[in-house]
Amino acid sequence: MSRGAGRVRIGEPTASDTRPLCSHHGPIIPGEMYCGYACDAAVRDVAASGGVVTAILLDLLERREIDAALVSRITGVNGSIRAVSELARTREEVLRAAGSAYVFTPVLKQVKKLVGFAGRVAIVALPCQAARIRRLTESHPDLKERIAWVIGLFCRGAVSEGFYRDFLRREGLNEADVEQVRVARRRVTGEVVFGLRGGERHHVPFLKMNAYRIAGAHYHFPCLCCAEHLAASADLSVGDIFAPEYKSRPIRHSALVCRTAGAAELADSLRDRAVIAYEFFGMERYKKTFARLERFSNTLGARVAAGKLTGLRVGSGRMEAFDPFHAMAWTIVCMNHRLSRTKRGRRFLYALPSPIIQGLAMLVKGLARL
Ligand SMILES: Cc1cc2nc3c(=O)[nH]c(=O)nc-3n(C[C@H](O)[C@H](O)[C@H](O)COP(=O)(O)OP(=O)(O)OC[C@H]3O[C@@H](n4cnc5c(N)ncnc54)[C@H](O)[C@@H]3O)c2cc1C
Ligand code: SF4
Repeated sequence: MSRGAGRVRIGEPTASDTRPLCSHHGPIIPGEMYCGYACDAAVRDVAASGGVVTAILLDLLERREIDAALVSRITGVNGSIRAVSELARTREEVLRAAGSAYVFTPVLKQVKKLVGFAGRVAIVALPCQAARIRRLTESHPDLKERIAWVIGLFCRGAVSEGFYRDFLRREGLNEADVEQVRVARRRVTGEVVFGLRGGERHHVPFLKMNAYRIAGAHYHFPCLCCAEHLAASADLSVGDIFAPEYKSRPIRHSALVCRTAGAAELADSLRDRAVIAYEFFGMERYKKTFARLERFSNTLGARVAAGKLTGLRVGSGRMEAFDPFHAMAWTIVCMNHRLSRTKRGRRFLYALPSPIIQGLAMLVKGLARL
């Protein structure tokens, strides 16, 4: 099918799905940002935002452009909650891993095992992992051959596995009873569903759990020193889009940036075959719309100061772009990160009433936007 031919078709013919919400027909420009979603409603149902990542992986598998996708999820393994990165070879396995596990995952461990793998793989990675994979492929030509695509997720902070462990305890659940964790996000709300042994399910509002993450509980330490969040080293970068106009859309969208000409060609083909629908958003507009958030998470000055206040060695010690409000927000994050490093600290943090944690999370968010 030629580029731009045909209207965008939507996967599921519900009342709200029948009109083409996304209408970009020109060729995708590398480095620019587009917003879109998977046309297959079954994909969107299990996805973190618009299901763009899962739709790409399924398409690559179906067309045999790859033999497996390296995906990640959080799940129960031998009685413990674990972040798992694994090769998915079927539609079911890819769908099972859809959605975001807001945890640092062992992607790189699995990437190293790909040396000698008979086949080609697409990898979903966090920005720091995508950068590391790029460096690894430069020194390992065999690995380069194996890796067909690196899809990077936008990321402004992950937590360690202990995050889920303590949260489960807080919820009165035994980690050994949890077999599955699914984060089902909706626009601002959503829920976390813990699948228990015997088929029972425990539902928790996403905002309740996410408040601990935003406040800094079990914050993955390297995230305190990280200043690249849009996965610039990946072939394609995908994230959420929180621009006001998308809040009223009946379908959640993902933001997508193709980093190479090859990735742009792939995105064109996905659009032409109605696998994914896109519209132009623009990188400049994204940077302008989220300028405060970008400043909060892309500069280190405030974090260096917060680290000094809380006794953490964050960054090089340079105080570039210092902002006092951001320093206050990072101090809360560093403080709770420190608390969650010790048994006594964790006990204290997780004994606090939920509204206090939610208040801290709101404060961090509010200060970040100033
Ligand atoms: C730790 C973390 C922090 C994030 N922070 C932000 C943010 O600040 N801003 C933003 O815009 N977006 C952020 N995202 C990305 C966002 O949550 C969605 O993943 C993204 O919008 C893609 O949505 P989708 O519907 O296209 O993905 P889906 O179709 O749902 O597919 C998501 C894919 O990501 C994989 N995956 C899930 N968790 C991980 C993980 N921890 N490590 C590696 N792979 C994983 C899944 O296996 C799946 O293949 C974050 C994601 C993670 C995991
Ligand atoms: S914030 Fe940075 S260091 Fe932390 S997981 Fe995301 S990309 Fe990696």
